[in-house]
Amino acid sequence: MAKRSPASRSKRASTQPAAAKADPVPKTPARPDAPADPALKRRAATIYQRLHKLYPDARCALDHQNPYQLLVATILSAQCTDKRVNMVTPALFRAYPDPQALAGSEPAALEKLIQSTGFYRNKARNLKEAARKIVQDHHGRVPRTMEELTALPGVARKTANVVLGNAFDTHVGVVVDTHVARLARRLGLTTHTDPAKIERDLMALFPRKRWTLLAHLLITHGRNTCTARNPDCEHCILNSLCPKFGVTTKQSTPAAKAGNAGKTTAG
Ligand code: SF4
Repeated sequence: MAKRSPASRSKRASTQPAAAKADPVPKTPARPDAPADPALKRRAATIYQRLHKLYPDARCALDHQNPYQLLVATILSAQCTDKRVNMVTPALFRAYPDPQALAGSEPAALEKLIQSTGFYRNKARNLKEAARKIVQDHHGRVPRTMEELTALPGVARKTANVVLGNAFDTHVGVVVDTHVARLARRLGLTTHTDPAKIERDLMALFPRKRWTLLAHLLITHGRNTCTARNPDCEHCILNSLCPKFGVTTKQSTPAAKAGNAGKTTAG
């Protein structure tokens, strides 16, 4: 049986994108092919209720005070931890407090400030160009639509979903990062691995008003209990609902730990 992860029980959800140039989710809103199975919908609702009760404070883990700061932080979080981004952004926002300032930044100075987040040259280019477009095309304000956001450099559907849901309370889709994808599969909410298809399945199962918080809840549970390598199924609040109860990975089995990999089930 998998043991509980020693990781802290943070109740703050991540918005960490999975790739430097955002994600492969298409710009067009995902649409389900067919209505979701009613029984699966009921199970999904119970999953949401249990997670919401367990993590009543789940929210975006990227520190921000306005849509501009959230957009910048989300772009920086590609291939980087939220914790690292939160260490970088205070100085970054002091140096460039708004899109105008960021648009006029010196590339070398900007790169130096964000270097520790990785892929810093590409990120710096995207940040500066996105800021320039916001100033030029949107009067210096972060746009509020999926189409306008995904027209900005470095912003694909997942990043736009983060900004729309958390900064504007506009729920256009579900953020699908590595945690959301893993939990959605383990919980039987999708059979897909492609983020666009996972998002489509989740959108069909949960009411629109829950889409943003749903991602935070799944991410928090993925960090605290249903980890990739060592899921704590025994103590999981969802274990009575989960078809993958007892899931193990090569890294979590005693045989694997002893260097003798036995038969395992990937999550
Ligand atoms: S029962 Fe196990 S696999 Fe299922 S959600 Fe809980 S920790 Fe994850």
